[in-house]
Amino acid sequence: MDIAAPIEIFAPYTNTNAEGDTVLTFPLLIDGQSRKLTYTVSPEYAKYLVTERADAALVAMLPLVTRRTGEVKVHAPISAELLHNLRHILSPVLPLYHPSYKPLSIEAEADETCFRRAGVNHIGTGCSCGVDSLATIYTYSKRTMTPESLRVDTLTFFDAGSHYENQRSKHGNTLMVGRLTKAKACAADLKLPLLTVCSNLYSFGDGLNFESVCTYRNVSSVLILQKYFSTYHLASSSHIREFHFSERDPSDSDEFLLRCLSTESTRLLSAVSSLDRQERTALISHWQPARNHLNVCTVNVENCGRCMKCIRTLYQLEITGERAAFDHLFADKTAFRNGSFAERWHVLKKIMRDTYFHREYAEWTKRAESLGLHPPYSSRFLRFILHPVVLILCDPRHAARYLR
Ligand SMILES: [Zn+2]
Repeated sequence: MDIAAPIEIFAPYTNTNAEGDTVLTFPLLIDGQSRKLTYTVSPEYAKYLVTERADAALVAMLPLVTRRTGEVKVHAPISAELLHNLRHILSPVLPLYHPSYKPLSIEAEADETCFRRAGVNHIGTGCSCGVDSLATIYTYSKRTMTPESLRVDTLTFFDAGSHYENQRSKHGNTLMVGRLTKAKACAADLKLPLLTVCSNLYSFGDGLNFESVCTYRNVSSVLILQKYFSTYHLASSSHIREFHFSERDPSDSDEFLLRCLSTESTRLLSAVSSLDRQERTALISHWQPARNHLNVCTVNVENCGRCMKCIRTLYQLEITGERAAFDHLFADKTAFRNGSFAERWHVLKKIMRDTYFHREYAEWTKRAESLGLHPPYSSRFLRFILHPVVLILCDPRHAARYLR
């Protein structure tokens, strides 16, 4: 095994699997071993797969490449803009993500041909049914709000590793199948097609968790379909004010990163980054599709009501005053509102330990003050500490009025 050897990427090819779906395969050479990176789509999307270039595989392998020698050899053309952006814009910035990241040395031929054709310029975004995803769909599917050139006409569901981490498991598979079923129901409700891409990206984790590679994997799943998507909105995970270069979560720099990963055929845009999670929650809280399909749980297919993501969401819905409309989507509400003292204490401890929650809560309070909405508690300490205590330990129906 030679870790110093560059990763090699070979020209892709397609074939049909036993289920009749189309599989796009990139042969790879990593540490002297032959591997195959695969993406599977249903037959109606087969004609849009990019078999002429290796953009998708190169983007998928970037986290591994920069953590090793920075060298990669590609035996297939790469879109000229992508190659330029990687070599001259992303590469010099990589050490800002982590000092040990190596600059990129990409051996590849550039191809300037654009795949865009009249009548096939689709605009897509993901449909995970989470707050960020639904806020993006809401923003970019409304005729009154959005110009046609940005309006979403296709929803996607990527099986790119978020359900499994680095290996397949029975529970991971249950999550994937359950979430896909929910995405299909949401897309049907919105009368938009759902394009599913299943890949084996999860098996190229090399010990990296999904969060640290999520932008690369999602973009990779978009770039196999450059003949279909002219624009793709990726829901941002945080507000633009949180922009920073982070090894743990590169999506905090999506406004920059997506510009680097765009091609002449497909532009990638970071969506709803001018809103924080509280504002995104407020944006969708009156929208019936969100009330039908919101799904945020990190533990189960159904919203458990007990994990940190469920609790954050319930809390934020409480602040908007619309929680009752979403109650039916949460399996267990007792931990949040009617549970024993011990259960509420358990929830409170989780909230106090959650840095995202504190960040969001601080911003929300600041925003409320700038709008002239002064909570009854003037002390900063009381606002940050006492409000969650009041909300969790007392009856939230009474506590909520202090928060609006
Ligand atoms: Zn949950």
